[in-house]
Amino acid sequence: MLQYHSARDYGINPEDLGTPALQVINELHKAGFQAFVVGGGIRDLLLGLHPKDFDIATNATPEQVKRVFGRHCQIIGRRFQLAHVYQERHLFEVATFRAPHDNQSQRSQTSAHGMITRDNVWGTIDQDALRRDFTANALYYNPKTGEILDFANGLADIKRKKLRMIGDPSTRYREDPVRMLRAARLSAKLDFTIEEKTLEPIYHLAYLLKSVSAHRLYDESLKLFSCGHLQNLLTILHQLNLFSALFPLLEERVVNSELVQLAAKNTDDRLQQGKSINPAFFYAVLLWDWQQKLTNNALAQGEDLFPAQQNAAIETLNLQSKSTAIPRFVGQTIRDIWELQPRLAFPRAKIVPKLISQPRFRAGFDFLWLREQTGDSGTNDMAAWWEAYQQATSDEQEKLLKALDKQRAKTIAKEKADKAEANAQKPKKRKAKTTKVAVNSGENA
Ligand code: ATP
Ligand code: MG
Repeated sequence: MLQYHSARDYGINPEDLGTPALQVINELHKAGFQAFVVGGGIRDLLLGLHPKDFDIATNATPEQVKRVFGRHCQIIGRRFQLAHVYQERHLFEVATFRAPHDNQSQRSQTSAHGMITRDNVWGTIDQDALRRDFTANALYYNPKTGEILDFANGLADIKRKKLRMIGDPSTRYREDPVRMLRAARLSAKLDFTIEEKTLEPIYHLAYLLKSVSAHRLYDESLKLFSCGHLQNLLTILHQLNLFSALFPLLEERVVNSELVQLAAKNTDDRLQQGKSINPAFFYAVLLWDWQQKLTNNALAQGEDLFPAQQNAAIETLNLQSKSTAIPRFVGQTIRDIWELQPRLAFPRAKIVPKLISQPRFRAGFDFLWLREQTGDSGTNDMAAWWEAYQQATSDEQEKLLKALDKQRAKTIAKEKADKAEANAQKPKKRKAKTTKVAVNSGENA
């Protein structure tokens, strides 16, 4: 049942949308169309949060939106067609009202499992409201009239901090399994409880994510990483069986590992401080354990570190990309971060300036630093050294480099001694070998 609320009663004024969003809405109104702010924008304003963007819903078709905004508008998407409108360097997603599914139409398609593969049948605002995911996301704000239209009792759910699926949750998850990820993400981000009926089917239906395109899941994974509450979200995803559907390579102990937890906390902290995050970095953290395992297997079979590490990286990324299609340039950054690890852990003084001027140095160093925080002895305590080196004056840097060469000579001597002893006694063969290769990597770097 449709309810009208006055936005002003909730402390919301048109200015809260900012000039560009108001301009887009005004242009649509002037052209004779309906236009509302919908979803996260109005929901977050009601919660006193800063919306990250304002999504707009309209009865104009994408082509009609294109006619209103001309070259400032681009129509995108196949499964779910949208108009992207650029206004004063801001991007707005303008979505046409959707109608319920009609399998007779070319514009709508459903797979044999009930998954909607095309969702482009236009409808009215009340039909559109019921096609949205959660009640809190089905609020429409018209800044001209100052009214919030509430089709699904969303405002009451916002007050109670409840995430409730519109319609029958199982059917809605089958239509679009990504809604399960959205439930987890929004509950972490908004600190909402997922209402029982909305929650319960997720455990059984999590596997359906495997049928979603890996490209879409990659995009969703970025939204997960950047929601600002990643630490909490990892726990929720894991509890709901959703994590393994996205990252099948990751064992439970990895999700709970200090490295992943610390990286998630750092990601949240960075976003809190208004800093940017690099999705490649968190991918590198998540998949590190797997690529290390493959590297170590290859080392145990007598391969050299570099080819072992390279092949392990390629294989790890290929396997993960079956679930979330990691773009090539992101994959390259992940590999660069990994490949820098032995180089940063066992550098020769001579190549320190070269390493530091590498474009990926910062990310590689941050990764080494994280590992060191978790007590990973593979860093050779070098994160602290690099930290000191970057802070030092040029005189101090000279001293640090000298100390580094001395330390290196000692390590190599010790390794030789260890190896001789190992050869004499024949135990601990594998450990001596791994360390030796790691030091050699510094020489090769
Ligand atoms: P965020 O703060 O992450 O932007 P949001 O709720 O605005 O959260 P968007 O992805 O921007 O998320 O989507 C905008 C709106 O579109 C949602 O609020 C919801 O109403 C609707 N929506 C998005 N994805 C789906 C989906 N998979 N199924 C149904 N409705 C959806
Ligand atoms: Mg949004």
